[in-house]
Amino acid sequence: NRAWVLAQRPVGEPDDDTLRLETRPMPQAGAGEMLLRTEWLSIDPYMRGRMNDAKSYAEPVPIGGVMTGQVVAEVVTSGVDGYAPGDRVLALSGWQDWAVSDGTGVMRLPKGLERPAWALGILGMPGLTAHAGLAYIGEPKAGETLVVSAATGPVGATVGQIARLRGCRVVGVAGGPEKCRHAVEVQGFDTCIDHRAEDFEAELRAACPDGVDVYWDNTGARPLYAVLPLLNPFARVPVCGVAGWYNLQSLPEGPDRGPQIMATILRMKVKMQGFIVYDSFPPSAYDAFLAEMTGWLADGSVHYTEQVVEGLEAAPHALRDVLAGRNFGKVAVRVG
Ligand code: NDP
Repeated sequence: NRAWVLAQRPVGEPDDDTLRLETRPMPQAGAGEMLLRTEWLSIDPYMRGRMNDAKSYAEPVPIGGVMTGQVVAEVVTSGVDGYAPGDRVLALSGWQDWAVSDGTGVMRLPKGLERPAWALGILGMPGLTAHAGLAYIGEPKAGETLVVSAATGPVGATVGQIARLRGCRVVGVAGGPEKCRHAVEVQGFDTCIDHRAEDFEAELRAACPDGVDVYWDNTGARPLYAVLPLLNPFARVPVCGVAGWYNLQSLPEGPDRGPQIMATILRMKVKMQGFIVYDSFPPSAYDAFLAEMTGWLADGSVHYTEQVVEGLEAAPHALRDVLAGRNFGKVAVRVG
């Protein structure tokens, strides 16, 4: 059984010494447990946070512990009621080939799924994040302008496409011309602005002639600062992630933005709300999401881009790429 364990806590970007690939004995399922074989491992930006020994909404990975991660797995043997060999499940068994589970936190996937890895993306956590975050916090209305950063990632791409379906003008922010083209041509966004371009702020302003009613923040950093002066009265800002800052060890150089941020929230009566998908929405949000998203995927209203990475050994690089914006769409590692 191969497992990636946390060898040391990274300072800034994770590097070759952050994680270590160990070969461990095959786990044995005891009474009331099942043996799971990992098929797909999800790579997500939050994993960087789990490497820090810091207060957060979840416990950090201990040194020597297996890296956290959601997987699609096959049940190989089962002593857990309700699960049988051959079942396919979603589990939080982390970056390893095999795992034993007593069923806690495990969810069975429907039989015969055409694309099981989608349960880690558009039909799973990132998709639900986008759908529920818009329904409960962003509340986009027809005719409004929505800006979303990390616009081609699994969350951002879904947010923008749902907002289009709700009748909004959708402006993406992404890193580089290729991603921006993808957002417009494949995802159907009205336009998309490159946050690495020198005149990014001016281009974003020109792309939002009626201001911004919803800013979905996946990144913080330059996109956030560029949107602030464009926010309309009663704008909503779902604070979904700060991917532009996950590798920060201390406050960056530069002006103190606190006064600008607080004055904007006050004067524009902005609703800025953070959330964590697992506990910020009622259980009914999941059923509403699945019903609507399944329909949209079937009739082609929503497009999903997935980047498959081959082999468990490639997982650390895949995470570094996601954090640096070198991914294209949802990154899923094919393990077995
Ligand atoms: P993505 O695939 O979008 O990856 C993160 C992206 O952030 C990168 O690809 C890059 O895109 C962008 N980025 C990185 N650094 C910077 C920077 N300095 N400035 C601007 N953009 C940057 O990830 P996901 O779609 O999986 O997740 C998006 C966000 O949502 C993340 O912050 C994640 O942590 C968060 N999230 C939060 C959840 C919650 O419950 N609150 C649940 C799920 C996700 P580009 O190249 O386009 O700049």
